[in-house]
Amino acid sequence: MYDIIIVGAGPAGMTAALYALRANKKVLVLEAKAYGGQIVNANLVENYPGIPSISGFDFATNLYNQIKELGAEIKFETVLHVDEEKNVTTDENTYQAKAVIIATGSENRKLNIERERDLVGKGVSYCATCDGNFYKNKVVAVSGGGNTAFEDALYLSDIAKKVYLIHRREEFRAEQTYINKLKKKENVTFVLNANVVALNGEEKLESIELEKNGGSKETINVDGLFIAVGQAPRNDIFSNVVTLNEQGYIVSEDGVHTNVDGIYVAGDTRVKSLRQLTTAVSDGSIAATTAMRETK
Ligand code: NAP
Repeated sequence: MYDIIIVGAGPAGMTAALYALRANKKVLVLEAKAYGGQIVNANLVENYPGIPSISGFDFATNLYNQIKELGAEIKFETVLHVDEEKNVTTDENTYQAKAVIIATGSENRKLNIERERDLVGKGVSYCATCDGNFYKNKVVAVSGGGNTAFEDALYLSDIAKKVYLIHRREEFRAEQTYINKLKKKENVTFVLNANVVALNGEEKLESIELEKNGGSKETINVDGLFIAVGQAPRNDIFSNVVTLNEQGYIVSEDGVHTNVDGIYVAGDTRVKSLRQLTTAVSDGSIAATTAMRETK
């Protein structure tokens, strides 16, 4: 019997583990893939208070090492099911806890156009810091208008010969500092009011087809397309036990409790107004301290 089982080893889940371990609790962290969550894709994090600049990967690794040194038990297993009795079933075992914290984050949203899946790794990517290096002196496009798209375009502009930033509206969600920086880059062209509607190329991506908001079409030759159109949660496996909203995020009236006693939520996977590293670690600390107080 664990005191707390944490599902997900991103910043929210690992922070929850940090707080629970420092309180001497028996904690199990379950993670399907690798530790770190989405932040490992961030080239540089420059808005975390007290740390002027750090790569997302380094941030995640520091946090991982911090909880490992406190004796964290982390198992790389895929959670398949959680029930109201706080039984957590993975692809390998079933575990029981007094409290469960769901911190499964979110995953990259897809454009959902034909051949998108086929061309992943052959010109289509969701991670500029992972794959950008393959595009030295080549032509790439970034789809999206948020912080991720701008960060990706900035990063790629130092590697690629030319970068197109393709966005479906005139206004951006990205912070003004990113917009100002990108506008100064001479090898970046903004294509606004346009959607990527088709991907061309047999073995690898050769060009993308854009549809402008008026309906006109344009084809651009590119070697790579970086899709940065936001995140979506992956909470289907919890829908039997906790309430989800229409977009699949876990509903929590106060940002920490779900509708089930002893099951808590933290980080990007819950309904919230600001999905940032700062709010994820905040959620993790509150979820752990609340769980410890309520499920002694
Ligand atoms: P986001 O802020 O949700 O932006 C997604 C962008 O993709 C929006 O511009 C959206 O257009 C566009 N989009 C969505 N669906 C689309 C579709 N089907 N076709 C074409 N375009 C589509 O996502 P994000 O940039 O991944 O950021 C996620 C969160 O992480 C945000 O809270 C962000 O601030 C945060 N983040 C922070 C940092 C940092 O502070 N260093 C870095 C990266 C991310 P519309 O604007 O028209 O909806």
